[in-house]
Amino acid sequence: MTASRRVAEVASEPPAKGPAEPSGDRPSRQEAEEAVRTLIRFAGDDPEREGLAGTPQRVTKSYQEYFAGYAIDPMDLLKRTFEEVDGYDEMVLLRDIPFESHCEHHLAPIIGKAHVAYMPRSRVVGISKLVRVVDAYARRMQIQEKMTAQIANAIDDVLEPKGVAVVIEAAHQCMTTRGVHRPGVAMVTSRMLGLFRSDARTRREFLALIGNPSGSYGGHHI
Ligand SMILES: [Zn+2]
Repeated sequence: MTASRRVAEVASEPPAKGPAEPSGDRPSRQEAEEAVRTLIRFAGDDPEREGLAGTPQRVTKSYQEYFAGYAIDPMDLLKRTFEEVDGYDEMVLLRDIPFESHCEHHLAPIIGKAHVAYMPRSRVVGISKLVRVVDAYARRMQIQEKMTAQIANAIDDVLEPKGVAVVIEAAHQCMTTRGVHRPGVAMVTSRMLGLFRSDARTRREFLALIGNPSGSYGGHHI
């Protein structure tokens, strides 16, 4: 799939509204550990052998970390602390926010960085909040396009800025370690709202500041 086509898909994502709750009744830790034992047997190993004895517990615990974002409401994060800006109307940009996520198709890691910018209208948030918003969406089962749109939409909905731009560059381990086996391929997705969409100069400034991730990037914004 080409970069431009993938990027275009972001446009059709519905706006993100709050956290996606884990669906249905949640299994117990014991049931989760049993499921890991099943996967170990499925892979062809013996969950009872010494080296694997603690693995189901460790994997279950890791899952709680990987997917901690379901318990966080990013809108709430943004709502809690904002300040009135005193006429500051220049771009606020947070560049190279590292994140780890998992693709919802293979549960394989997606590792990359996000660039988040907005043009304040009347509200700004602390930069740590933007990092936590990225994290809250990353720590879920994701597709990169959806995550890109969710971050932009959350900022747009709560801060009501003049514009929001989110660019994510990431490597998908489901591509690099299985399937087509293409290490080193990064996927770039973007979501541009408001001024970043309508004003070419603002968009160019933003892309220049983040170092134009895909080289021929100018035509791929949405
Ligand atoms: Zn995948």
